[in-house]
Amino acid sequence: MRPSVSLWHDTLPAGDLATRRPPLPGPTEADVAVVGGGFTGLWTAYSLVRRDPGLRVVVLEAEHAGFGASGRNGGWVSGLLPVSLDAVAAASSRAGALAWQRAADATVDEVLRTAAEEGIDADAEKGGYLRLATTEPQAARLRASVAEARGWGRGEEDLRWLSRAEARSLVAADGVLGATCTPHCAVVHPARLVRGLARAVERRGVVVHEGTPVTAIEPHLARTPFGDVRARVVVRALEGYTRTLAGARRALLPVYSLMLATEPLPEEFWAEVGWRQRATLNDGRRLIVYAQRTRDGRIAFGGRGAPYRLGSRLTTASEQARGVHDALRRSLVELFPSLASARITHRWGGPLGVPRDWWPSVRYDPATGLASAGGYSGDGVAMTNLAGRTLADLVTGADTELTRLPFVGHRSPAFEPEPLRWLGVNAGFRLAAAVDRRERRTGRPAVVLDRALTRLTGH
Ligand SMILES: Cc1cc2nc3c(=O)[nH]c(=O)nc-3n(C[C@H](O)[C@H](O)[C@H](O)COP(=O)(O)OP(=O)(O)OC[C@H]3O[C@@H](n4cnc5c(N)ncnc54)[C@H](O)[C@@H]3O)c2cc1C
Repeated sequence: MRPSVSLWHDTLPAGDLATRRPPLPGPTEADVAVVGGGFTGLWTAYSLVRRDPGLRVVVLEAEHAGFGASGRNGGWVSGLLPVSLDAVAAASSRAGALAWQRAADATVDEVLRTAAEEGIDADAEKGGYLRLATTEPQAARLRASVAEARGWGRGEEDLRWLSRAEARSLVAADGVLGATCTPHCAVVHPARLVRGLARAVERRGVVVHEGTPVTAIEPHLARTPFGDVRARVVVRALEGYTRTLAGARRALLPVYSLMLATEPLPEEFWAEVGWRQRATLNDGRRLIVYAQRTRDGRIAFGGRGAPYRLGSRLTTASEQARGVHDALRRSLVELFPSLASARITHRWGGPLGVPRDWWPSVRYDPATGLASAGGYSGDGVAMTNLAGRTLADLVTGADTELTRLPFVGHRSPAFEPEPLRWLGVNAGFRLAAAVDRRERRTGRPAVVLDRALTRLTGH
């Protein structure tokens, strides 16, 4: 089966993917070898050469820059942390948790500012994030999240509750009972951003080799079929693909997120629905869905639930789980019934990386030169930028606010061995879907199922 072509890759400027950058020509030396040409690798390379233009940085990418999650995602540039502030505070401090959240929020503007400065037209717009409540239990959970935010000193300017009328005046989706709203989110065309970023790093002297799979990472060394790269620092930036390296199979779980895109929708639809500022949109269900209004007037709509494969196997078949794409379409039509006959032009998917405790981390050991960043659990479009800037500070020996954030040096536990992992992960998906179904049917919180889900997944 051929990999699915995402809307984003399909709508890149003509010729953008036509020529590949040359692979590694042979054994090479560098100051920093970055493994993986997605947002993590490229933001790290970018931040390194901005701090020290004399550094020799090479990026080694198995396919092409932006081939992975970075070129295929929902395009939410958000300040969302995948781990709760309570969990972060328990493991570090309240001040540390808040500093991380503030840095994540500020990163939304940092991404847009840097893209503009580098002349990258990524269809960006900062319209905030609307999380709709479409059942009473969702409304109760979302109201509780606002109360919780207040407990953290986060005010109306960070998160607020909108009544049904207020929410519908922004996006007239069906069955909306209310919503939360935060300004800390923007949308982008992710492939335009990541491809533009690859060109920006090259303009600053970084060498990007495509078609260059790394087969092993060792202290000060990245091995490829074309020769070894010796470097003071080797950065692992593989996220959902981390398991392709020996010894890293249980570090990050590859979870497939799937997406579809409608045809460009007619003006009458947008006149009826509003959604003018292109806010990112989802609802409070447990099996996550997410949407963006694209600049060319489509809806790109995604969600989880593709079955996890034994041994964390990566396969293009997982990008085309028909049942998941069909369920996504049903969810889209539930929210916008007038889309029942809208044409779906693209269906695709890709792997993201989830650590056992949902904590993203940035790590650097000067003795071995081994560095890594990842584990964004589906909230990586902005977090990769924060991680890249943080890694650049660590590698260049700077002691900054970023190097003191709680994700620095964090070590997540390994996942359970198989087949326990397979059983647990797929049970988690089924439980999440069961919670949503039960709550929709009864209008009451599915307390027991929800508790079981939290116990199983830690989320
Ligand atoms: C469908 C989908 C929707 C998502 N939606 C959102 C969203 O809306 N907002 C958000 O914040 N996050 C979202 N995410 C998550 C986000 O896209 C990722 O967290 C982020 O892009 C991770 O970037 P990365 O560079 O770490 O990984 P990737 O972009 O996956 O990059 C890893 C790169 O490594 C390459 N590679 C693999 N193996 C090797 C090897 N052995 N040697 C060399 N190179 C190798 C791959 O080809 C790939 O290009 C989504 C993810 C998916 C899949």
